[in-house]
Amino acid sequence: MKKLILVLMFILFASMISPVYAAYNKPWPLPVPTVPNSVCIDPGHGDEDNIDGDNGTSYIDPATGEILYQEDDINLDVARILQTKLGKAGYSNVWLTRDDDYAMTNRERYEKCNGLGAAILVSIHHNGSSDPSVNYTLSLYKKDVDIPLARIVSEYVSTALGLHDEGISLFTSGVLLKSDMPATISEAFFLTNENVVSMIEVKDEFGENALDKEARGLLNAINNYFSTIQ
Ligand SMILES: [Zn+2]
Repeated sequence: MKKLILVLMFILFASMISPVYAAYNKPWPLPVPTVPNSVCIDPGHGDEDNIDGDNGTSYIDPATGEILYQEDDINLDVARILQTKLGKAGYSNVWLTRDDDYAMTNRERYEKCNGLGAAILVSIHHNGSSDPSVNYTLSLYKKDVDIPLARIVSEYVSTALGLHDEGISLFTSGVLLKSDMPATISEAFFLTNENVVSMIEVKDEFGENALDKEARGLLNAINNYFSTIQ
């Protein structure tokens, strides 16, 4: 009997300790079973002082040498447009890892998405190259379970932007490796491309710039993924 009480006390004690809350005092909920059709959007990088932090890649005006766009800001812009589009499409569980311009570790990102029980994680980045003529769409994966999501994202985003679909590429990132759910890093276009100013500043006859098109491609990819894969 004493043994049984000890075992029951141990179980009770163990159940009170969450691995998340035991180690970190984060403001997001405890891990829960995966929420169907839920999306964790992760805008890559982030730097509140915008000087020497993690801004990702940049577009530099070739005439003046001035930085016109930084990747962390563009990633957040696309994340917000996508969040709105998903909401309008009826998705009631859409979360952002960061909703402003501040730094986050990879660990904070995947722990937040894991803790929320997101069904998929889509990390938004933009590519960079020293060659200003380079521009294509690529999606990154790490786990085998990431592959279908990465493929669909690259396919739909490249179509929406009218860019070459470079497909998917294996990439070791904590966000992909340690996330519990299928995850991908979307590299929709090259922020270093020579046409980036017009891509971002000029809207087409449908009122869309490249960031709107990218978000529409991501929405279509997510719709397709949930209706055919998961
Ligand atoms: Zn990036």
